[in-house]
Amino acid sequence: MVKQMNYGSDYKYIPVTSIGSGTGIGVLPDLFSYTTQIVNIYLVGDPKTRDFVLVDAGMPNSAKEIISVIESFFGKNCYPKAIILTHGHFDHIGAVIELVKRWDIPVYAHELEMPFLTGEISYPKPDPTVEGGMVAKMSSMFPNKPINLGKNVNPLPSNGSVPHMPEFKWIHTPGHTPGHVSLFREKDRVLIAGDAFVTVKQEYLYRVLTQKHEISGPPRYLTSDWKSAKESIIKLAALNPTIAVTGHGSPMYGELLTKSLEKLVENFDEIAKPAYGRYV
Ligand SMILES: [Zn+2]
Ligand SMILES: [Zn+2]
Repeated sequence: MVKQMNYGSDYKYIPVTSIGSGTGIGVLPDLFSYTTQIVNIYLVGDPKTRDFVLVDAGMPNSAKEIISVIESFFGKNCYPKAIILTHGHFDHIGAVIELVKRWDIPVYAHELEMPFLTGEISYPKPDPTVEGGMVAKMSSMFPNKPINLGKNVNPLPSNGSVPHMPEFKWIHTPGHTPGHVSLFREKDRVLIAGDAFVTVKQEYLYRVLTQKHEISGPPRYLTSDWKSAKESIIKLAALNPTIAVTGHGSPMYGELLTKSLEKLVENFDEIAKPAYGRYV
């Protein structure tokens, strides 16, 4: 039963895009990535059994597009068993209410992310003064007020399992947000990193537009705890992933990923942490 839900009062369409917008990548037979404007969503599961979940829920106003992508990939009237949120920023929950209303499916997020998803607490305001380019400067227009998903959102199980993703475990990777999670599958070392780290310098409009592929820390303008953000990246690097898909930017594989993560850990303050800004 779908209960009352509403977006935050500052929810709105954000006019930004990238060359990746509207394109999908089959990362693995059971992992499909799709980009809405400047953010990725993931479909995880076997297209043959049509047993799958949606990880994250795109930009504001992207519901129609997400539904049509899912139906073209899995078949008419197919829908995910659940929506798993890496965190609740506006660009990861943009279509979630329409999707839940259409399919009546549960949403899961980390317990510490719940207040931002049940209308209780706003995220810290985006920081347009942070070191970075045009996207950082325009971030003052990004919504930060909490969405209210009411009883439709549930905390992830405390044993680390992920509903409807039987081989994955969630890993608490705070810093970008308090309840940020990444998802990891041991057998092929696949990592869905959310915004714990990303593969495009998300603060710079031209790099976002062209999707220049390079490792970066979490998007600066919305990251409020840099100490935890660094610890989270160390935790993820220690998993030695062979494939990483991130909230922003294209997938990164193999040796490039290993070397890039090593570089990010060793030079975190230079690569990731802004030289100035409200939260440093
Ligand atoms: Zn984020
Ligand atoms: Zn994001």
